[in-house]
Amino acid sequence: MEPLVRGKTLGIFGGGQLGRLIAEAAKSLGYRTAALDASASSPALQVVDIPIVGAVEDADAALKLAEASDLLTLEWELIPVKVLELAAKARPLYPAPSVLGVIQDRLTQKNFLRKHGFPQTPFGEATTAAGWKHPVIIKRRTQGYDGKGQCRLDRESDAPKAAEVLKAPCVWEKLVDFKAEISVILARGRDGATAVFPVAENLHRGGVLHATRAPARIPRDTAAKAVALAQRIAEALGHTGVMAVEMFLLHDESLLVNEIAPRVHNSGHYSLGGCATSQFEQHVRAVCGLPLGSTDLIEGKASMVNLLGDLWANGEPRWKTLDAIPGAKLHLYGKPDARPGRKMGHYTVVGAAADAEFERADERLKALRG
Ligand code: AMP
Repeated sequence: MEPLVRGKTLGIFGGGQLGRLIAEAAKSLGYRTAALDASASSPALQVVDIPIVGAVEDADAALKLAEASDLLTLEWELIPVKVLELAAKARPLYPAPSVLGVIQDRLTQKNFLRKHGFPQTPFGEATTAAGWKHPVIIKRRTQGYDGKGQCRLDRESDAPKAAEVLKAPCVWEKLVDFKAEISVILARGRDGATAVFPVAENLHRGGVLHATRAPARIPRDTAAKAVALAQRIAEALGHTGVMAVEMFLLHDESLLVNEIAPRVHNSGHYSLGGCATSQFEQHVRAVCGLPLGSTDLIEGKASMVNLLGDLWANGEPRWKTLDAIPGAKLHLYGKPDARPGRKMGHYTVVGAAADAEFERADERLKALRG
């Protein structure tokens, strides 16, 4: 199929910050944009040419998005497969609904990884919070993200903590004693060509991404193993577009897959300003059928720090703290209310100062909060 012609419209399922950043990249490549979200004030609906308000679960709203667009993509993996299949009959949609069918349910995703022999921590369906011989994490099969819908059980007496999470179908995972968390962000074009971003090293707090640095401080052959693993997963899924594979690096340098996101990912935000092509532009290139761009780090290193709603606890953050850092780039998502834990924005630092910024992220956040 021919590349999407400039001036045509790319439609996005979902109106969050990922959709906003995809839309901005699409616009600078010369496309028009549309997005569907339940809220008119969502980050993406504020910036697209054709905002469509409606639930992403609603088939009629999905068809409205399809009618307004020439090609479709998504920024969120939890749109019902049936709705995506309907939309895909009206317009080309990348990634294919079948990819989402594998990813949406943690159990299906884990069974897919097992079937293909990709390494992961022991897991199973969880129906009870008691009886574990080792520490586990109980996770909702669907709808859980950023540490939500999850519960860590370190000892037998923790069992009651999982009661709430277990109200919906869950999986259990053996707790992993990892040395580091890394992620591989890659893009796979419609023709199967891939381009991989430098492996990122991630720090999470309470299940939510706190900060990322790239390249990860890991041996070259470990990075190569991680990249090969992610490429094999993208191939097995038949994915088109940007995809993230989060992994645990163990003390013996082996890797376990934590989870797959079939979309642009928070741990790839460093590429916006850090790499010759951002993950958002790369996603647009991949789904629109353009050649993939260079993923080289422009200044050798980049880091990213997330700004959560907690920062607004004492009022507007003291932005002059960030404004004073030469080269720091602030990206706010335009979310109207700053709730604790909500991702409101992020900032990046590239080049020689990136490592130090990653190390002093907490200090900066404290100064920002005032
Ligand atoms: P998830 O939403 O599944 O990516 O989990 C969020 C974060 O919780 C991960 O990035 C890890 O920091 C932690 N986590 C999740 N699963 C495990 C596990 N099986 N063992 C240890 N830590 C985990």
